[in-house]
Amino acid sequence: MITPTALFAFDTLLTEEEREIRNTVRRVCDREIRPHVAEWFETGELPARELARTLGSLGVLGMHLEGYGCAGMGAVSYGLACLELEAADSGLRSLVSVQGSLAMYAIWKYGSEEQKQEWLPAMAAGERIGCFGLTEPDFGSDPAGMRTTAKREGGDWVLNGTKMWITNGSVADVAVVWARTDEGVRGFLVPAGTPGLTVNDVKHKISLRASVTSELVLDGVRLPDAALLPGARGLSGPLGCLNEARFGIVFGAMGAALDCLETAIAYAGDREVFAKPLASYQLTQEKLADMALELGKGLLLAVHLGRLKEAGTITPEQVSAGKLNNVREALEIARKCRTLLGASGITLEYPVIRHAVNLESVLTYEGTSEIHSLVLGKALTGIAAFH
Ligand SMILES: Cc1cc2nc3c(=O)[nH]c(=O)nc-3n(C[C@H](O)[C@H](O)[C@H](O)COP(=O)(O)OP(=O)(O)OC[C@H]3O[C@@H](n4cnc5c(N)ncnc54)[C@H](O)[C@@H]3O)c2cc1C
Repeated sequence: MITPTALFAFDTLLTEEEREIRNTVRRVCDREIRPHVAEWFETGELPARELARTLGSLGVLGMHLEGYGCAGMGAVSYGLACLELEAADSGLRSLVSVQGSLAMYAIWKYGSEEQKQEWLPAMAAGERIGCFGLTEPDFGSDPAGMRTTAKREGGDWVLNGTKMWITNGSVADVAVVWARTDEGVRGFLVPAGTPGLTVNDVKHKISLRASVTSELVLDGVRLPDAALLPGARGLSGPLGCLNEARFGIVFGAMGAALDCLETAIAYAGDREVFAKPLASYQLTQEKLADMALELGKGLLLAVHLGRLKEAGTITPEQVSAGKLNNVREALEIARKCRTLLGASGITLEYPVIRHAVNLESVLTYEGTSEIHSLVLGKALTGIAAFH
């Protein structure tokens, strides 16, 4: 027998250091996350502060950023960490993506020196949590329509509006909020507890239940000029952050898929149907072979994009291609694995249905699959079909 990753000699594409990082993250997930994650999912409650500190000491928060207490690792190392985290649960990888690639990256890339010193070391250590507020109730795929405003009043800024579907919202110490100003879209750091900021959690989720999702209501939130991110002007600011987070998803989605496939292979070996192991039937083997192929292709694509990112040549269209393909295929793999587990596949005793419903969110956030198709369509034809 051979594992799905060994079929593609996946490890030969990685350096020794990258394999070590992957194994360390996997060990911590096995010890600290996997024993509890189904319960967090079922209850919809997770110890986010404690988890952030665990992930901070593991060094995965902002691990691809340089300086300010961040590990400064390469893109493939970061991707492999996302893969292992998402093999445990997409909600956990979401916490890390939002912290490192959205909130910390925004401060690291666009912040003042004072903002970086104030937030980044504590966020890298997991002592402080960040969230990223771009989406609004009426504007998700089209953030250019945002209604949240920031107006100058004397030396201050006053923010009004509502942000929706914000990961880490109610556990965040700081929200990176994007708002419309007279000079176009600008980013602001809004500390938790600022008067006028109300945070409400989204309840009744069926997906990403081991993740905090919130609404941020900004009602006359007054901020000093020092809260403005000086380096971000226009929508390219938040879109630059999203590109970072999407890259992590290219790897992460394959982690969820791998966990499903390994579970299904083990289950099919044990489960007897019509007096023979389920794994011995040709229909089963075709399903497993097809899934292994898509998993392998997705992993190869992820590493290829990682090397392009390390070389500094990756384009947003390439990240879109990776996000679209790998999340779509991961979801297909999760659904097919679910069929192999029969009725057991609908319980939280196995991780498969949890991954499947989580991946529904992953298909939608960080650019829906339709939007990434349109990005590729534009790249291939030169015609933008968004409007
Ligand atoms: C669990 C979760 C966590 C999230 N975390 C965050 C976060 O931390 N921060 C944040 O800012 N946002 C976050 N989001 C929001 C997410 O980014 C948006 O949900 C996403 O961008 C889609 O926006 P929407 O839900 O408003 O859907 P819509 O934009 O209303 O889209 C609805 C449907 O229309 C399709 N569509 C849209 N435009 C077109 C078009 N031009 N042509 C054809 N079809 C189109 C879409 O693909 C989709 O199928 C999160 C969402 C979820 C579910």
